[in-house]
Amino acid sequence: MANAPELNPAQRTLLGPGPSNIHPRVMRAMIAPVVGHLDPDFAAVMEEVKQLLRALFQTANDLTFPVSGTGSAGMEAAIANLIEEGDEAVIGVNGVFGGRAADCAERMGARVHRVESPWGRIIEPADIATALKKTKRPKMVLIVHAETSTGIWQPVEEISRLAHEHGAMLVLDTVTSLGCIPVEIDKWRVDVAYSCTQKGISAPPGLAPITFSQAARDAIRARKQKCHSWYFDISMIEQYWGRERVYHHTAPITMTYALYEGLRLVLEEGLPARFERHRLNGAAISAGLAALGLEPVAQEGHRLPQLAVVKTPAGIDEAAVRRELLLKYNLEIAGGLGPFRGQVWRIGTLGESSRRQHVAALLGALESIIASMGVEVRRGAALAAADKVYA
Ligand SMILES: *Cc1c(COP(=O)(O)O)cnc(C)c1O
Repeated sequence: MANAPELNPAQRTLLGPGPSNIHPRVMRAMIAPVVGHLDPDFAAVMEEVKQLLRALFQTANDLTFPVSGTGSAGMEAAIANLIEEGDEAVIGVNGVFGGRAADCAERMGARVHRVESPWGRIIEPADIATALKKTKRPKMVLIVHAETSTGIWQPVEEISRLAHEHGAMLVLDTVTSLGCIPVEIDKWRVDVAYSCTQKGISAPPGLAPITFSQAARDAIRARKQKCHSWYFDISMIEQYWGRERVYHHTAPITMTYALYEGLRLVLEEGLPARFERHRLNGAAISAGLAALGLEPVAQEGHRLPQLAVVKTPAGIDEAAVRRELLLKYNLEIAGGLGPFRGQVWRIGTLGESSRRQHVAALLGALESIIASMGVEVRRGAALAAADKVYA
């Protein structure tokens, strides 16, 4: 294969639910020399990454580090370490990602109580309470903070209180929330939270930040069975990310550099400013989409600022719109998952993608394309609506 072509992917603006645009500083960090995974220089980066992640997760949890693998690896690590054969788990399912967590917990041997809400609605604390009452000794409650299939922003604190009242640990999927909206692990008493690098942190995909409370660590230490996953067994991995530095598997060195630089950028900006930027650009894009007649699917009052999920206009080929956005404007948005396939667009302004110029570009392009396909729109209304938010 001497004539395999040179790599030549296009330079896109990423306005889907992830990956998001990457800051040039993060790209530059990735050309730093690869050292050994036990090198003192790498150990220093590991310590910094742990500190920075604690700041972003707003936790004092000692065991806070990136799992090797994407966000799904974080999910699997969280569940595999907490669940033993026969444990009861209460899992909120109101979209794809709660459904995946329930599937994962079942594979690990849990007896799963699914607490369902229609897609586009939050998980109701009252329904979690009802499910918990049906359990004997629930081991964990898991909910998704930002449900990426619907754009729902799930409230956490009431469900955390209920979980702990019943002696269960709370696991929180923060894959699409971390770095975009507040994630307050200690204040909310979250026992395990996992995330990813390629959404709110704006580094390439490849690592899954995770944090474990002391209660979660105690429960893991008290396990009667070995963790069903060898690769994600925290009792071994913590000896590498802790002071012992015992080899378990080779840390993805370059990805760790990328995460480090991504986190430095997040904390240089400061969490309040970063959350405000996401709020403002999210409000602007939502106003613009509303002016185009595109309705959000998430219930009012619980819509994520960093991810607008809107119904596609009737009678047009939604995939053709996305294709035009991509090929003519270099703008990526996403379609729907599962039952929402063909029904919605998912438009993300995560991390570096949350910029006014991208909001304007997307609204302008989308307006042109749907107008050319016969959707009746008031030309200029979307950008005017967004401008009003910024004014
Ligand atoms: C993206 C996502 C995941 C999976 O993350 P990957 O990095 O794709 O493995 C899990 N949960 C939620 C809520 C997500 O949005």
